[in-house]
Amino acid sequence: MLVDLMQSRKLENVLYDIRGPVLEEAKRLEEEGRRIVKLNIGNPAPFGFEAPDEILVDVIRNLPNAQGYSDSQGLLSARTAIVHHYQTRGIDTVDVDDIWLGNGVSELITLSLQAMLDDGDEVLVPAPDYPLWTASASLAGGRPVHYLCDESAGWEPDLDDVRAKVTARTKAIVVINPNNPTGAVYSEQTLRGLADIARENGLVVMADEIYDKILYDDAEHVPFAKLAPDVFSLTFNGLSKAYRVAGFRAGWMMVSGPKRHAANYLEGITLLANMRLCANVPAQHAVQVALGGRQSIRELILPGGRLLEQRDAATAALRAIPGVTCVEPRGSLYVFPRLDPELYPIRDDQRFVLEFLRTQHVLVVQGTGFHWPHTDHLRIVTLPRADDLTDAIGRLGEFLASYRGD
Ligand code: PLP
Repeated sequence: MLVDLMQSRKLENVLYDIRGPVLEEAKRLEEEGRRIVKLNIGNPAPFGFEAPDEILVDVIRNLPNAQGYSDSQGLLSARTAIVHHYQTRGIDTVDVDDIWLGNGVSELITLSLQAMLDDGDEVLVPAPDYPLWTASASLAGGRPVHYLCDESAGWEPDLDDVRAKVTARTKAIVVINPNNPTGAVYSEQTLRGLADIARENGLVVMADEIYDKILYDDAEHVPFAKLAPDVFSLTFNGLSKAYRVAGFRAGWMMVSGPKRHAANYLEGITLLANMRLCANVPAQHAVQVALGGRQSIRELILPGGRLLEQRDAATAALRAIPGVTCVEPRGSLYVFPRLDPELYPIRDDQRFVLEFLRTQHVLVVQGTGFHWPHTDHLRIVTLPRADDLTDAIGRLGEFLASYRGD
């Protein structure tokens, strides 16, 4: 008997457009022999950003010792290095029991929300967001509620909006700093405001700080756990971006604040971590050497550095297009420009992105893919060489010059 196999209803509200229909279309065009410039995903290695040699050497050297499962929280050497790393950043209340290693931050985002949410529990997620947060909250049975980040204020979270969206069902606030997709690096004042809202309402703060070392100009990153040691928070970070080993799938989560009150939740985290046995062990060996080694990311973000040059090239090229504005990113690997809706009346931004892809062979992601409520933004990855970015964004300019709305 043949019965149509349907996906679970749990997936009804789950969306992840960074690798969604637009990427499928790009693959189809590639199969036809087209060369597609892919500006859709923050994966440094394919753009020639190589991991520091010492990381690769250490992982290879440790491979024979990485054949068995590790402790489900992770290798002690990695957790000790993470604790030490946070001590140097002014956080001295955590120890190795407060660290969980995961297969990338991604696994820990889903795991931590699965352990937290009952059906209908709400999580405050920024708009725009890194869409895995919204998707994982939905998948865990929760209800993601989006708070606005304010483009006119450098994309800082609108604290009044955050406050207005807290309800009796709210359990957590997600704070992505430095931000994907906007490139904002939040001020201490904003972080203090978010901490106050968490304190007043007994909310958990989930601080995704995976871009904490990718900062431009004079931007400074303040770890949430340092600023608000009295708030129960989970901090997420890993090796995918600053250490350029996204394929290793090495991430971690640190718990800080009043842990006694969260003992039951932490038992839930431990249960889920035990169920998946452990994170990829060879990659866990990369953590100690990465955190303890030379921080070569600095050469890429300081004046003359490739990432900074590319950020500048992308913003300059975007600003040269009539009706396109763009808040200059102060961190991370993305720009999130606005296309003036009067000039470019886009009703369906996914369709817009597909048309741009088909005519100019450049792949970007539509703003609604990041839960931005309007169809007037795109996200562009700033990983390609400056000339390639200028060329690809020039093609966006050409496309827009002939664009008459859909
Ligand atoms: N969090 C943010 C804000 C990201 O941008 C990404 C990847 O792009 C992740 C988490 C996932 O990182 P990982 O490779 O550690 O799973």
